[in-house]
Amino acid sequence: MVGLAARHLEGLRRRDFLAGAALVDGRWVASQQRDVVIDPATGEEIADVARCSPADMELAITAAERSFAAWRELLPARRGAILKAWASLMLDHSEELAILVTSEQGKPLAEARYEISYGAGFLEWFAAEGERTYGETIPSHKPGSLLQVRKQPVGVAAAITPWNFPVAMIARKAGAALAAGCPVIVKPAPETPLSALALARLAEEAGIPRGVFQVLVGDPIELSAPLLRDTRIRALSFTGSTQVGRLLLEGAARTVKKVSLELGGHAPFLVFDDVDLDKAVKGAMAAKFATSGQDCLAANRIYVQRSIYTAFVDAFAAAMAPLKVGHGLEPATDVGPMTKLSVATKCRAQIDDAAAKGARVISAKADKALGQNFVLPTLLSDVTDDMLIACEETFGPVAAILPFDSEEEALARANTSEMGLAAYVYTDSLRRALRLSEGIEYGMVGINTASFTGPPIPFGGWKQSGIGREGSRHGIEEYMEMKYVCFGDLAT
Ligand code: NAD
Repeated sequence: MVGLAARHLEGLRRRDFLAGAALVDGRWVASQQRDVVIDPATGEEIADVARCSPADMELAITAAERSFAAWRELLPARRGAILKAWASLMLDHSEELAILVTSEQGKPLAEARYEISYGAGFLEWFAAEGERTYGETIPSHKPGSLLQVRKQPVGVAAAITPWNFPVAMIARKAGAALAAGCPVIVKPAPETPLSALALARLAEEAGIPRGVFQVLVGDPIELSAPLLRDTRIRALSFTGSTQVGRLLLEGAARTVKKVSLELGGHAPFLVFDDVDLDKAVKGAMAAKFATSGQDCLAANRIYVQRSIYTAFVDAFAAAMAPLKVGHGLEPATDVGPMTKLSVATKCRAQIDDAAAKGARVISAKADKALGQNFVLPTLLSDVTDDMLIACEETFGPVAAILPFDSEEEALARANTSEMGLAAYVYTDSLRRALRLSEGIEYGMVGINTASFTGPPIPFGGWKQSGIGREGSRHGIEEYMEMKYVCFGDLAT
């Protein structure tokens, strides 16, 4: 396992993907100050990248502002053509980008490959959506006047992105902003800068003009401060923890920015006793172990009706047992390391807490020694509402399974969380599915499916899970302002 990422990175044809230089005002900035990039599976240093300063960020904001007029003036179809070229380049370099993602993030290579096509899909989607930002004409309430609503780009946008989808979250935000006519400055997570910087190389090759797409890596607080205080940054989009989302919302309030936040989740996964058990277990496995559990859509509370509870737990344990845990670059791996040690530590604390309060713990086996960032797939049965895992986001491969008796009880318990991102319901009853899809307080609901994301859907949460939507025809609105124009005195 040792050296696996380094060996793969050595084999990359695109050596420039490893230069670790930030893209500021059309220049590749390799500062004297460097931060190391770690392979989370082994703890080895695999690269180093520039540490941008607040002064670099000021330059980037000025460059973005300068580039705005020309970018917004381009016809949407022209901007779309550039976005499509960027998507094609991503797909052409899919294997190299996937290796970067797995090396620094840890996810299995097959999932990293999927992430590249998922991310490119957002660029393609918004390339077309930019041509459909229709305004409206309002039937007038004033004699002799014409009332119009236009949509115009809000201005320079900032994107602060997470480490769990280091390519797709940039593409989803930047695709929408660029299609709307807004320049974008990206500050990626310090754990996963290589993927972001490689995307910047490809953006430049696709023909995105100087200053329109910039990526600055470095200390999150130092680099976000200029973004928050500068009135030239008109929109801020963030994906990450609710805690940091709140801080950014507070910071952005001072300059009254348009803010969209994709924050944490705590997805309930409801299984009723009328379902095909195998299908429900398959869905729950996918909703729990994708991205090694480091996914805001991950099933955090699997509620199973009491009459099938034992059978479900046994089937889930059997399905979990063969999962292979290891380095994401090993072909057989199903579950990789946690990207951050703090996430692994949190998972272990939730397991210990549940065990101390009476949960049964079943863990998958590892067939070799694993580093400290690894968490073995674990099932906790007989989980109760007072356990940590029932109330705080896990973000790792630990499944909590809780029994329930009635539909009313399941709905009430599903809705107790202050999070409101995704929920899943498995039932064979159409009436029940309709009732629950109406009553459940979450932004996205999968009925008898664990797979529902993609460019056409409005991704986003209720309550503490965020503000605004990404993807879909709604995602571009986060980067547009409405302008109402009244043409008066037309009768003369
Ligand atoms: P985080 O919120 O700290 O990091 C996300 C992004 O915010 C990164 O770019 C990070 O550099 C930046 N950031 C962190 N602190 C900042 C600050 N004070 N000012 C400005 N930017 C800041 O997330 P984390 O600590 O890496 O992960 C902790 C938890 O967050 C996870 O366990 C999970 O619950 C949640 N999370 C959710 C998502 C998601 O997809 N919604 C993604 C990542 C993390």
